[in-house]
Amino acid sequence: MTERLYYNDGHLARFVSRVVSCESCEGGFDVRLEGTAFFPGGGGQEADGGTLGGMRLLSLRETDEGDIAHILPGPLEPGAEVEGVLDWDMRFARMQSHSGEHIVSGTVHRLFGYDNVGFHMGESGMTLDFSGELTPRDIGLVELEANRAVWRDAPVRTLLPGRDELEKLDFRSKKELSGLVRLVEIEGVDLCACCAPHVSRTGEVGLIKVVDYMRHRGGMRLTVLAGEAAYRDCAEVYVQNSSISAALSAKRLETAAAVRRSLAERSEEHSALTALKKELMQLKSAALRPTEGNICIFERDMDMVSLRELVNSGMQLAGGVCAAFCGEDGDYRYIIGSLSANLRSAAGDINAALCGRGGGNKTMIQGSCRAKRADIEAYFAV
Ligand SMILES: [Zn+2]
Repeated sequence: MTERLYYNDGHLARFVSRVVSCESCEGGFDVRLEGTAFFPGGGGQEADGGTLGGMRLLSLRETDEGDIAHILPGPLEPGAEVEGVLDWDMRFARMQSHSGEHIVSGTVHRLFGYDNVGFHMGESGMTLDFSGELTPRDIGLVELEANRAVWRDAPVRTLLPGRDELEKLDFRSKKELSGLVRLVEIEGVDLCACCAPHVSRTGEVGLIKVVDYMRHRGGMRLTVLAGEAAYRDCAEVYVQNSSISAALSAKRLETAAAVRRSLAERSEEHSALTALKKELMQLKSAALRPTEGNICIFERDMDMVSLRELVNSGMQLAGGVCAAFCGEDGDYRYIIGSLSANLRSAAGDINAALCGRGGGNKTMIQGSCRAKRADIEAYFAV
């Protein structure tokens, strides 16, 4: 059984151990050591990366016999002493997150009595599922208490109690445990069964931030960041807030109110604009005069809904068609309506004459065209 050097020392970033065996396996060579500082993954935490004997680890695997298999691209000599080097930055970030998770889960358990029933450590933070609901105020309290535990710099210890001793201990665990049970104790905060490497004092976690929460399966799912990940997120949010503060000339801690004010103003302006557009449309419609022939309308800037309204009014007054064009000369969007002509069958001719494309039904067609205003007016003879 491989000795797990990370059980007692989560900070072992380099180690030397003897090769016990080396056999070829699918995808490379399966190397077993007397002891290893490489964590093979488990309990929500990914496996470590790094090099062994100068070769990059392809993967790590835990065997049924309790060995840790190091899968390498080449062989190592049994009996030889080899050096293992962990990808330390990644490992430390994961330890900060995982120890942070224990602190939050222990705090929720202590304050509200809920169990942690799910844990996942992902790229954009870790999710912690709890068996009961928490209000935003509860979550704020949990976050503050968790950070206070960090500031106390409490020691984090590993315990390997015997069966009798274990029965007397009150610890958190997600599943029924058999065999040797490893407990991770965070003094005054938490006692939990866990197989992963942890920081040695809570101060190393640095910062804990709950960045999101939602109701989940009758309980609560919190998205939490800890350590450098939490710091980086806060720094990024600070940059975003500064930018909003500058754009809205609002004080740093008054940006939310400023955004709400700005949105309310925009909503008022939008209502006013809609009323003005309606009024303008009524004026434009009233200005149209009845004719036996066609009506042609040219607009520089009008939305298609308003343009259609105008055509609806115009086609009541035209013996032929009411054709409305919007845009730059030679680059128009058009809507053409008629109560007398069959526009569906005329669409081909109209598009050919106006260098356009588009279609619709018997009474209305729409599309775009490249014809000049003078040519369009000549075509409709207005
Ligand atoms: Zn754990």
